[in-house]
Amino acid sequence: MCIGCALAGWPPSRRERGPFPEEADPFPWPDRRRDGGTLTWTGVAGFVFACEGTRIAFDPFVSRPLLSAVVLRAPAPDAARVERWFSDLDAVFVGHTHYDHAMDLAAVARASPRARIVGSATTVELCRRLGVADDRLAAASDGVTTTVGPFRVSAVAADHGKVPVARFFDRMTLPARGLPSTPARYPRGEVLAWRVEASGRTFHVHGSAGIDDAALGRQGPVDALIACLAARKGTPRYLERLVAPLKPSVLVPCHHDDFFRPLDEPPAPVPTLRWRAFRRESRALAERDGVTTWLPVRGEPAAW
Ligand SMILES: [Zn+2]
Ligand SMILES: [Zn+2]
Repeated sequence: MCIGCALAGWPPSRRERGPFPEEADPFPWPDRRRDGGTLTWTGVAGFVFACEGTRIAFDPFVSRPLLSAVVLRAPAPDAARVERWFSDLDAVFVGHTHYDHAMDLAAVARASPRARIVGSATTVELCRRLGVADDRLAAASDGVTTTVGPFRVSAVAADHGKVPVARFFDRMTLPARGLPSTPARYPRGEVLAWRVEASGRTFHVHGSAGIDDAALGRQGPVDALIACLAARKGTPRYLERLVAPLKPSVLVPCHHDDFFRPLDEPPAPVPTLRWRAFRRESRALAERDGVTTWLPVRGEPAAW
């Protein structure tokens, strides 16, 4: 190592490593108990939880079209890839309907024929228009709880992160009829977070970086907080405000990979990640609140 690199702190030590480790640490519960479940990050805000033979997904999205296709082409989910990542699900929960959370839903419904899709009124209407049968759709709003196998999943009203320049293209609602003509035209719809309980553990899944303080304030403590890092700059004291009521032991970042890069390529940071600021914030949370940050590895199930 040259002296310049040493002074610059490069390569980073294990404690200071970057956002995308090649290997995950064991899930850092303070009591070290393992409860038989697994958690798999599938990129962006996507996760699959498995427990006692039941599999549920949040914001399943793996098609990741290039920017030119997002703006100019009709949405074209990668059915083969969706099938590899999202078959055999029992339920799917959708936090909001931007394309990087909801574009693959019809393909997911085909890959997992017994899965119910749970989300906002906009999610339900989108899925209907995508051809998903009505009896597989369930609308959720703040406080609505869904039970699937060992999982109890409750919707928590939330808000969207402030995306730079979004006001030029962001839509709030679906077109009057038909489907969005491009992925970029997928609307935001209502934004939900989720409280997930199974096997004696509780997770809060926060897939976009805005907060509904009233709804969040109604939540009791959780064991782990999964928090979107993209576009959080416009939400003052974002992590602090999530941690205060939820009191997690573990913080899991998500929505921190650049979703214009295909899944086969190594992950790269999303442009609004601000990794150094996150490390500062997470160190402060560790010191003050005893929160351990755990970095997921895309596609690798981690036992919890
Ligand atoms: Zn969004
Ligand atoms: Zn997103």
